[in-house]
Amino acid sequence: MSRIKRGSKAKQAKVKEVSSLLSQIYGPIPWEPRYHAAEELVYTILSQHTSDINSERAFLNLMKVFGDLDSITDAAVEKIELAIRRGGLSKTKAPRIKSILNEVRDEVGSFDLSFLSEMPLEDAKKWLINLKGVGPKTAAIILCFSFGMPAMPVDTHIYRVSQRLALVGKKVSAEKAHDLLESIVEPEEVFQFHMYLIKHGRDTCKAQRPRCTDCTLTDLCPAFKKYK
Ligand code: SF4
Repeated sequence: MSRIKRGSKAKQAKVKEVSSLLSQIYGPIPWEPRYHAAEELVYTILSQHTSDINSERAFLNLMKVFGDLDSITDAAVEKIELAIRRGGLSKTKAPRIKSILNEVRDEVGSFDLSFLSEMPLEDAKKWLINLKGVGPKTAAIILCFSFGMPAMPVDTHIYRVSQRLALVGKKVSAEKAHDLLESIVEPEEVFQFHMYLIKHGRDTCKAQRPRCTDCTLTDLCPAFKKYK
């Protein structure tokens, strides 16, 4: 059985401080299941390089047009493309969706991926990453959002904020940051910490001009001097 090795005590303590300060702004954010795992897989493909609003519109329209995942899997690529057009990059995403759904159905015999939630986290990740086109971020999104497992999806906001806070080193890739952050956040806090860093990245620790003078994390942030 694979187990996640815990990171340094100092970084674990820093995560707790960051979390505590951000909780005073954002309050508790309890986990709630989003889509079923195989639907979440489709949703993550639709969300690549587009806004949340557009990807959600495309996903809802896709489900409205086809009704279920079997019908999407059996449909012509052109029909899928038409259904997701409002989400952007439909020519690339439609064949990807069809191909990955076929792979899942061939492998499992259905779209019920609930067996993943019974597996140790590392094994569940490996199973998903073995699907063509699924990387650490997509695997973590599915495990975290569909099953509430302690997998940390690292998007652009989380990567940037955690590097500025020196929770993740400058030379650590986004792919490696997934495991690294999971090793320093308490498993039961992973979802909430993920949401806090995204919100903080969007609201305050922005990519171009972070609003450091309004930030609650200045005392913990080595990047503060650079941007203030
Ligand atoms: S002090 Fe600035 S760089 Fe550091 S977390 Fe806050 S906004 Fe980001």
